[in-house]
Amino acid sequence: MKLTWVIALCIASLFSITLQAQTKSKSKKPAGLKTILLEDLKKDVYAMADPHFNGRSAGTIDELKASAWFAERMREEGIAPAGDDGTYFQFFSMQCHRISPASSVTIGNHNLKLWSDLLISQLAPALVSAPVVYLGEANKLNLNAVDVQGKAVAIQVVPDGINLNVSLPEWRYSRSVMTKYGNDLISKGAAAVIFISDEYSEHAWPYAKENLIRGIYSNEGTAPAPTSKAPMLWLHSDASEWIKAEGLVLNASLILESFTYPSVNIIGKVEGIDPTLSKEYVVLSGHPDAHGIRNVIGNDSIYHGADDNATVNVALLATARALKKYPGKRSALLVIHGAEERGLIGSRYFTTHPTVPISSIVAVLNGDMIGRNHPDSAALLGSQAPHRSSSDLVNMALEANEQGPQFKLDTLWDKPNHVEGWFFRSDHLPYARLNIPSLMYTTLLHPDYHTPQDNAQNIDYEKLLKMTQWIYRTAWKVVNADQRPAVEPNFKLER
Ligand SMILES: [Zn+2]
Repeated sequence: MKLTWVIALCIASLFSITLQAQTKSKSKKPAGLKTILLEDLKKDVYAMADPHFNGRSAGTIDELKASAWFAERMREEGIAPAGDDGTYFQFFSMQCHRISPASSVTIGNHNLKLWSDLLISQLAPALVSAPVVYLGEANKLNLNAVDVQGKAVAIQVVPDGINLNVSLPEWRYSRSVMTKYGNDLISKGAAAVIFISDEYSEHAWPYAKENLIRGIYSNEGTAPAPTSKAPMLWLHSDASEWIKAEGLVLNASLILESFTYPSVNIIGKVEGIDPTLSKEYVVLSGHPDAHGIRNVIGNDSIYHGADDNATVNVALLATARALKKYPGKRSALLVIHGAEERGLIGSRYFTTHPTVPISSIVAVLNGDMIGRNHPDSAALLGSQAPHRSSSDLVNMALEANEQGPQFKLDTLWDKPNHVEGWFFRSDHLPYARLNIPSLMYTTLLHPDYHTPQDNAQNIDYEKLLKMTQWIYRTAWKVVNADQRPAVEPNFKLER
């Protein structure tokens, strides 16, 4: 394109932006905006992220207590119950598989104590007796030159080739190493893999332990218990002093135990006023759970989950209250999904056991972490192909942003090749998989993500107010639109 054309087009587009701005500045403010107050949001975040909820870990009494508190707040705001049996609650069971404390592991005369001397990163049952062979540094292994069949292969972990430039690298390290170095050894016939910790895995040990000890979770009845697999074990770095000795034998008896735990979705409804359209719903989606009590960071062990996700829950409560005071045509369904942090368990349950006809859900406005980072920045996930389920819905949200808070929107985190895969990590996902127009509001990750420092003191309440106004403005457009947002032609999530 010639430069003169570019200049001409720039002038033309500037002119049209000015015109648009003039038109938009005249657009009426939704009446409910004035009911959304910073002080209310702040009070509710402080209450929900209070230490007495012990970090609201999914499947514990703490999550249930916080859920009862949230339902009570809904009742106070006049939001009608829309769960089971006339209550705000939809209880469900999740399945947990974890390594039993009755498991035992010895190497030679070393009787290894579970989780302090030893981590087990393959969460599966196993009964193994095998000679130990030490094969040196993991990145120098030549699998074609050694016979590992039937052996317990010990290797020195090195960080080469493991991406530490991601969120929660400590949480991911053992899995990344297992994938990079362990799986090949098992497929070549190794009876077990023994990782000798490097400096980074020593640092990551307390984080890995907290996740491994808790096991793996799924919706009840959806995933069979893992069957027997070759164990992958971690020893502290000082094991390098004795693991090379001749004639060592690994004896491992790993027992898997399974439980069901209760969790709960908290569900309320705000009726629309149009006789026909009020039978349709915009879902306002959050999650009550955080990460409970874990390893100490900065003198605190309660993972309060203030940004993740008290900010969103209280923003949606304020949005529902605004719609209650000034109703739109369609109805709103406030669904706070239990056990999100265990793998979107509550949203998977709700989408297979909806309390309203699933076809009556016209859009899902989900939020995850909306009160941190630069005051003027935010992101809207589900706004770009291939994650964009509805251009109509995206346009409503973008217009709401322009008419309201005017955040500068990040465009990188919604891309399919973004390292975090953030679009796939929150409760809108099971809805989007059903081709329901879905968006996720977020102000993205920060260093306090999944730490005790994600607390109420560290929230930017001015920003939370603006994010709440954005969500409410979008919801107001959705409930009043003549047509429900159309699903993108041929939209289908690949994963
Ligand atoms: Zn979250």
